[in-house]
Amino acid sequence: MLIEDYDLEVFTPPCEPGAERYAARARLMVDISEALPYLNATLRGAVYLPEANALTWKKGGHNIAFHAYEIATSNVEDREGAEKELKGLIDLVNRTWERRAEITPNYETRQRPTPMAVYRLLPQTNCKMCGEPTCYTFAIKLVASQRKISECPPLLEAQYATQLSALQALLIEAPAIGKAGET
Ligand code: SF4
Repeated sequence: MLIEDYDLEVFTPPCEPGAERYAARARLMVDISEALPYLNATLRGAVYLPEANALTWKKGGHNIAFHAYEIATSNVEDREGAEKELKGLIDLVNRTWERRAEITPNYETRQRPTPMAVYRLLPQTNCKMCGEPTCYTFAIKLVASQRKISECPPLLEAQYATQLSALQALLIEAPAIGKAGET
């Protein structure tokens, strides 16, 4: 197991007093730098920053960052959720490291799509069926992994099949963390 010991801290970021969003940080006793290219190869939508020795990932609107000696998550709704998510991330690193012989490490830095690039592929009717006031709002949330492509019903109609394929290629939706094999 790569990560055996760590110090866990859950807190409300000082820049967001009263926001009722939580962050959690695990200070690690080992350097996980060598695991980052393996995570980059398996975590869909992750952005690896070799010069910073870091990997960032968005999941469900949460901002996740892996560094050499630290793993952090932020923008989580409650204290218990932040702690649970961080423990899930530690399990994820350990599982990925144990499987590294089966994984080709990826040292490339992917670019996240912009909201405008996503918006251009949406129906642009502002029909509100997704619950958002505009297609652009939906695009912003898609990029942040807070919404899923399937939550725009018109996009599933035959006339938007080309846009749907392009969106699926552009936006790689991250799966849930926590269960073995779910990366
Ligand atoms: S359901 Fe789709 S088309 Fe309608 S507002 Fe939402 S994103 Fe736009």
